[in-house]
Amino acid sequence: MLLAVLATAAVAVATTGLVRDDDRATRNVILFIGDGMGDSEITSARNYEYGSDGRLPGIDALPHDGRFTVHSLTPTGEPDYVADSAATATAWATGKRTYDGAIGVDVNGAAHPTLLELAKKKGLRTGNVTTASVLDATPAAQMAHVAKRSCSEPEETSDKCPENALENGGAGSISEQMLKSRPDVVLGGGFEVFEDEEAESGEFAGTTLLDQAERRGFQIVQDQAALAAVEEADQKTPLLGLFADQHLPVDWVGPEATRTGGTVPPVRCEPNDRRLSSQPSLTQMTEKALSLLDGDRGFLLQVESASIDKSSHDADACGQIGEVIALDEAVQAARTFAEKDGNTTVLVTADHAQASQIVQAGVDTRGLTTTLITNDGVPMTLSYATGAKGVKQAHSGVQVPIAAEGPKAGAVARLEEQTDLFDLIAGVLDLDTTG
Ligand code: MG
Ligand code: ZN
Repeated sequence: MLLAVLATAAVAVATTGLVRDDDRATRNVILFIGDGMGDSEITSARNYEYGSDGRLPGIDALPHDGRFTVHSLTPTGEPDYVADSAATATAWATGKRTYDGAIGVDVNGAAHPTLLELAKKKGLRTGNVTTASVLDATPAAQMAHVAKRSCSEPEETSDKCPENALENGGAGSISEQMLKSRPDVVLGGGFEVFEDEEAESGEFAGTTLLDQAERRGFQIVQDQAALAAVEEADQKTPLLGLFADQHLPVDWVGPEATRTGGTVPPVRCEPNDRRLSSQPSLTQMTEKALSLLDGDRGFLLQVESASIDKSSHDADACGQIGEVIALDEAVQAARTFAEKDGNTTVLVTADHAQASQIVQAGVDTRGLTTTLITNDGVPMTLSYATGAKGVKQAHSGVQVPIAAEGPKAGAVARLEEQTDLFDLIAGVLDLDTTG
């Protein structure tokens, strides 16, 4: 009986003509990052939008979940328990723990190949989507190698990362390395830097980064209509979408957090009227990237909801919650794609957690609080107690969740190191990590 089954299986393989064991060559990976999206930030968004018994229809529907330990390193290689976005993005992009502020380099300053670079080397298509500037730490760590995250443009790099500056024989600023590394699709904010800053050295010396992008063959789009009209993005004409001068505005706004211990009447969040309809949503950017990258070569797409973190630094509960909901909507769009495709792994995780805590309404936490009315119709108070009013709130060092579905998604079922995400994705896409 067993032999008969094996024989049938062999015939099935022979008749489909597949030599590969599991069709790995056409696999896709969509990696979602909620910047600053720990369990606290996920829980408050779920409570607010879907109620305590509700579920986030994107993230919570993923069938596998696990946890990652998060930490960075001090310059001497000791653990630093609270990490920043540069060190953590470098952890999964290169598989190496590093120091806060490092982009694609280890604690000794040595560059290591990133998942995006390895995917590209293998001939896969690549995309990098964010609601921040495309030169911000999370997207940058897949496309560049510099000593400090602030070295996004040439002048700053000459000043603060001289070893990376083109004129000193380095690979250049984050922006210059991004243009050279040439992912098929890069979408986000950061137009101002491209428009204002010029190369200081090399073949593009004296021309703006925007001119350089054009001369390198990039299609540049600046609004949703132009993005929607793009039909192809490849190595000949990669796509650079820059939809804001700096970071894209958040979706939701609400009251400023106060030290009154919950005596301000609870409210609902409002849509942010500073967000223009000409600016694509995270879901629109994700769907467009997927339609452009989809094909028979396989792809790696990283998608970041960046301002969960930025809002939390500002003790802005509505900004923070709205950006988790925006991420969840993009995850739903990716799951729709993955279901149709059948060979796509969807991963959702965070780089690090943030300061927000869900506390009892009316309790004076000694921090800044905002009380919102959830979709259960009851108050929920968020407290930010890691910085005084007017001072940035700080990251938390707790472990972060990861949820996944698709080929090899079951590998996330236990506690792993954040650097193991590098191996997991390299494994799904069968990338060569030895060279
Ligand atoms: Mg980020
Ligand atoms: Zn942060």
